[in-house]
Amino acid sequence: MEVDERTGLYIYSDTELDRAEGKAIESLKARSQQAIPDPDKWLEEELRRNVLLTSVDFMLNWARRSSLWPVICFPACCAFELIATAASRFDISRFGMEIIRASPRQADLMITAGTLTWKMAPQVRRIYDQMAEPKWVIAMGACAISGGTFAQSYSVVPGYNRIVPVDVYVPGCPPRPEALLYGIKMLHHKISKKSIIVEG
Ligand code: SF4
Repeated sequence: MEVDERTGLYIYSDTELDRAEGKAIESLKARSQQAIPDPDKWLEEELRRNVLLTSVDFMLNWARRSSLWPVICFPACCAFELIATAASRFDISRFGMEIIRASPRQADLMITAGTLTWKMAPQVRRIYDQMAEPKWVIAMGACAISGGTFAQSYSVVPGYNRIVPVDVYVPGCPPRPEALLYGIKMLHHKISKKSIIVEG
């Protein structure tokens, strides 16, 4: 290996240069047998424990079905079963439904507990029209579904579905609270299938 007299630096031949380069590479290889630890590993763990990924539809439907607020609209005897369902033994507050609203504008669920007469029908329709969107209807009891024992009467509406769109029918005269709870679960199921794309 020669030394440049002017600069005092070594002058490498081509072969020496190749050897020096090979040495450097071998040395790097020897030091690179293990992957360098990921400094962001803690972040992966944080994300795994704290971040949930879901769709807008799922979140919206979950919020809607978990906070249904029924409006007061109980024209006849099925109302007592509805009241029993809301009371402590059965308890609809576990579904976020304990706030039964006197104002239709603060309600999104109509549980039609009782016989409906034609004379009352316009008022029920008005309550429905004033409820917040999106809104749902559960027809509770034989009278709400078909007029029940009064179906042939001149004064009784043969089913609430003549007046408002019904989502879930709960049969019985009267249906027990367990039946109404089952109907509420069916409505939850129906709401969970909704999509904002379809709603436009
Ligand atoms: S279904 Fe039976 S309990 Fe319910 S409102 Fe009609 S008559 Fe009364």
